[in-house]
Amino acid sequence: MNFLEKRILKDGVVKEGNVLKVDSFLNHQMDVALFRQMGEEWKRRFADVPVTKILTIEASGIGIACIASEYFDVPVVFAKKSKSINIEGDMYTAEVESFTHRCINQVMVSKKFLSKEDHILIIDDFLANGCALQGLISIVSQAHATLEGIGIAVEKGFQVGGRTIRNLGYRLESLAIVEGMDAETGQIIFREQE
Ligand code: 5GP
Repeated sequence: MNFLEKRILKDGVVKEGNVLKVDSFLNHQMDVALFRQMGEEWKRRFADVPVTKILTIEASGIGIACIASEYFDVPVVFAKKSKSINIEGDMYTAEVESFTHRCINQVMVSKKFLSKEDHILIIDDFLANGCALQGLISIVSQAHATLEGIGIAVEKGFQVGGRTIRNLGYRLESLAIVEGMDAETGQIIFREQE
């Protein structure tokens, strides 16, 4: 069991509706020492690819992406969410349905910050159905940038996102993959990884 899986077992809380709460260390209160371990691990897993920028999505991706960027020594760009359809020009945009908030957001990145010369590593906290990732992937492709890989902290392996993204041929590295969880007993089972 790796450091993140251990932490999830210790402090994660299984909620009804397939939601894993990790707000005491990942996406509300943030354990930056843990984020450093995550950044180090993504750097190890993506050591063979050129990365010029990390792309994430607000809000909870930003903290982990910033700490990870220290290991890659590149800037972080985050996709901004907006409910308005009044998008100013010169933006790459995509629609993202939120799993936790059950609403649709327009996400956008200024064309100033992504270009066809960029080699992108996407970082995010959770992968569930993959809507957030599909939005980010669309933005990378609108910029004609190269998507080198995707680093996720917690993948819920029983939802379709991970399979869909891997089937599309993207390199996806999830630090913890939850295979099953039970809100009644609190039990969490992880997929075995090397
Ligand atoms: P997806 O777009 O893959 O369906 O969901 C990804 C986004 O939904 C993540 O960025 C995360 O904010 C949120 N999310 C999805 N499932 C969970 C969950 O079980 N727990 C938490 N804390 N966030 C989740």
